[in-house]
Amino acid sequence: MPYTAYDNRSLGFTTRQLHAGYNPAENHYAKNVPIYQTAAFEFGDFDRCLRVCSHEEPGAVSYSRCANPTNQVLEERMASLDGGVAGLSFSSGMAAITGAILNLAQEGDQIVAAPTMYGESVTLLTKVLPDLGITGRIVGNPDNLDEFEALITPRTKAVYIESLGNPCINIIDFEGLASLAHAHGIPLVVDNTFATPYLFRPFEHGADIDVYSATKYLGGHGTTVAGVVVERGGFDWSNGRFPQMEEFLRESGRSDDPHPFTSRLYNRSLSYFGAHLAAQSAFQILQGIETLSLRMERHASNAQRVAEFLSAHPAVSHVDYPGLPDNPYHELAQRYFPRGLTGMMSFRVRGGREAAIRFLDAVEVFDQMVNVGDAKSYVVYPAIATHFGLSEQEQAKAGIYPDTIRVSVGIEDVEDLLADLDQALGKAARA
Ligand SMILES: *Cc1c(COP(=O)(O)O)cnc(C)c1O
Repeated sequence: MPYTAYDNRSLGFTTRQLHAGYNPAENHYAKNVPIYQTAAFEFGDFDRCLRVCSHEEPGAVSYSRCANPTNQVLEERMASLDGGVAGLSFSSGMAAITGAILNLAQEGDQIVAAPTMYGESVTLLTKVLPDLGITGRIVGNPDNLDEFEALITPRTKAVYIESLGNPCINIIDFEGLASLAHAHGIPLVVDNTFATPYLFRPFEHGADIDVYSATKYLGGHGTTVAGVVVERGGFDWSNGRFPQMEEFLRESGRSDDPHPFTSRLYNRSLSYFGAHLAAQSAFQILQGIETLSLRMERHASNAQRVAEFLSAHPAVSHVDYPGLPDNPYHELAQRYFPRGLTGMMSFRVRGGREAAIRFLDAVEVFDQMVNVGDAKSYVVYPAIATHFGLSEQEQAKAGIYPDTIRVSVGIEDVEDLLADLDQALGKAARA
């Protein structure tokens, strides 16, 4: 029987994370995805050059700044796992986020966003994009959907959130927010980095565009910086809010394009901004994705144990993890995350900043690192290391205080993680 698993979307998630988007028969039957380490590709003859340059040959590639067959497997695999129509890979999560936003907003436009996000994403919206005339409008309390609605104007081009907020792991009512955005004719963009498509698929709850830092759980081993954007398909870009999309489709003559957002993103962010991922890096992320579901199950179960341990510990005053029954997001977690939650959480140490520093300098299995979503466990001091671009007030809005520690729980033996936290918390308590 011929091998068809590569384009069968009815297969299970774990089967697709191993097979989707890659057909060995088209690659000398190499069972693993080859790394196409080449800047450019031959046209062969002039007729084919014409077909490739006029996009008449599906999937044909000419130059790796725009497309590479290794990246195409990653893009197709992510679209399959996320349940979208198309994906694009970027040189970093920030390149993916910036590309997605610049594809939606032009000078004079606004993006309405949650305050509980990756620090650089907030800074991008509030301090960097304003230089281009694009304003990020940040809501005060993301639990109150009316606050999102109050900031939407005729120049708002998207609502932007994270599926699990950073660093306090807050959960927004996606379905409510998606209906609100759609009622205003704008897409919901979700940074799904902390959840990954295994634990949560935003498109099933109304999101239109997903962005990922693939550096984190997708790659999973902390080897490679990468980003991905995935489009759900079906959003009405001709509702009058997105003249740039209408113009692009008119000019490209592709009014029936099933993934117009991705086509324009490809044209702008890859062709002109040059933000494509290197093929070597795409291969590394594909390697990581092969074990995504297995790792996420372990991250989730280890994190649940760590959260329960911390919340019972006398040296800890507060733990933010929606898997705990007294967490304000526990109900939303049960509704949207039936397979468990991320390995990310944050907690507050008794004794303020000094105790937090003693804790950070005492850990032995955990490491002090800004990175997250690695198979290995990390802790970090967000007020300085990850959210330094924000004022103290903005930090407090994101749930970051001088005694806050963010934890990325890895896949080690959980007993070793608990013992390490216990001895470090002991040192934190002893001034
Ligand atoms: C790390 C991260 C980013 C940025 O991704 P890079 O790959 O570091 O550019 C964006 N969003 C979230 C939630 C992240 O954790």
